[in-house]
Amino acid sequence: MMLDNAAEHGVEIWQEANVTDVILEPSPHDSLPRATGVIVSRKGEPSQKISARVVIDATGTTALLSKKLGIRKADPMLRKASIFAHYRGARRDPGKNAGATLVVSTNNYDGWFGTSLCRMIS
Ligand SMILES: Cc1cc2nc3c(=O)[nH]c(=O)nc-3n(C[C@H](O)[C@H](O)[C@H](O)COP(=O)(O)OP(=O)(O)OC[C@H]3O[C@@H](n4cnc5c(N)ncnc54)[C@H](O)[C@@H]3O)c2cc1C
Repeated sequence: MMLDNAAEHGVEIWQEANVTDVILEPSPHDSLPRATGVIVSRKGEPSQKISARVVIDATGTTALLSKKLGIRKADPMLRKASIFAHYRGARRDPGKNAGATLVVSTNNYDGWFGTSLCRMIS
């Protein structure tokens, strides 16, 4: 929905495109360099350099830019692992809870399991 909305507002969207590097240049105002573009690899095409006035890193946990700059910091409280899977043979709750997330905690609350959009039938 957000992608469609962006396109409707004139954003040029490239899918199946992978940013392989961020171009950095020294900044006169900051000890960190300034991102001035990216190298993009698109399916079936050679890599190309895209220059930009502003580069936003929206790569989620990939954290492309902060990893490259070596400034990524882990929150010790969030050093957890997660596993997810899709299940067949599950059913949704009826009514307004049809899309609710079901969270099941371990006895001492140091772990939890969540299922979205459906309940598993055991
Ligand atoms: C199993 C699971 C369940 C969750 N449940 C919930 C929930 O119920 N409620 C909630 O609020 N949050 C939930 N979250 C968290 C939520 O999904 C994230 O916080 C959110 O998606 C982060 O959004 P984002 O746009 O920062 O990153 P992402 O959604 O991770 O988007 C990053 C995008 O960047 C792309 N990308 C990465 N590297 C590159 C690259 N080099 N070049 C090009 N593209 C790249 C990725 O393919 C991806 O499409 C859940 C997460 C998980 C894993």
